Amino acid sequence: MAGGLERVYGTEEDKVNCSFYIKIGACRYENKCQRIHSIPPISQTILFKHMYQNSPMEVAIASGNAVSQAGIEEALEKFENFYEDVFLKLAEFGEIEDLIVCENIGDHLVGNVYVKYTSELFAESCFNALQNLSYENRPLQMEYSPVLDFSSAKCKQYIDGTCQRGGACNYLHLKKISTKFKKSLFNQMYEEHPEYREKKEKEVNTEQDIVMMFRKSPKKNKKKEKKSKKKKSSSSRESSRRNSIERQKMINDWNETGIQNVSQAQKNDVWKQYACSSLYSQSIDENKS
Ligand SMILES: [Zn+2]
Ligand SMILES: [Zn+2]
Repeated sequence: MAGGLERVYGTEEDKVNCSFYIKIGACRYENKCQRIHSIPPISQTILFKHMYQNSPMEVAIASGNAVSQAGIEEALEKFENFYEDVFLKLAEFGEIEDLIVCENIGDHLVGNVYVKYTSELFAESCFNALQNLSYENRPLQMEYSPVLDFSSAKCKQYIDGTCQRGGACNYLHLKKISTKFKKSLFNQMYEEHPEYREKKEKEVNTEQDIVMMFRKSPKKNKKKEKKSKKKKSSSSRESSRRNSIERQKMINDWNETGIQNVSQAQKNDVWKQYACSSLYSQSIDENKS
């Protein structure tokens, strides 16, 4: 009997658990869903709900509207700044397997950021360290996510360029980031935390080893933190952005017309203690009621 339940768990046939929540990590019915959204007590993946703030230009892009070349450039720059900032911060807690940001604009998916670590212990360390922080004056809304396979959460039609639902789609439409740029961030992570790679090369994956690796890292992290800030603006990273043919291709994928200004994300002091943002959270509550 237990075998039967296992077989339907998380599928459309499952009358108890919400298959959407299990697959995507968010469901459009949210708290009103007829099926259970059971947040795992621990996971390799953490969801930061609505963390990324879209500019009007990005909303236009997500909706499939025509936008200007300059507007697209600014939107990409804004997103890359965010991605870099968040990636390097999250890498302080452990080896990142992937970091994705939703382009969807539906209420339950807008601005969602998912980070998947290579171990639950890394995720736990991140969760404990950041749960009372705010980012850009908005309190982080973190939860462990059941999503371990991003590929099945992604919208296949969006990847093919055929999704008709646009930003309102309930499967993940990921914000595009150049592979070269992303790779440079992974390289920086391994440079600053060689202990992640050393272990990987040995292909040692026992829990004991991961625990040891995790215990070793904080000291090193602190020393290298200053270094990393300087590196952020390193010329190699800038050139990996500007010279990227892939990036130009991404831009060309969108069409031209209309001009909008997009303010750049401020990189300084964006991570703060929750207390700093109490006013903001209050205003969120007011809006909800
Ligand atoms: Zn649901
Ligand atoms: Zn779609």
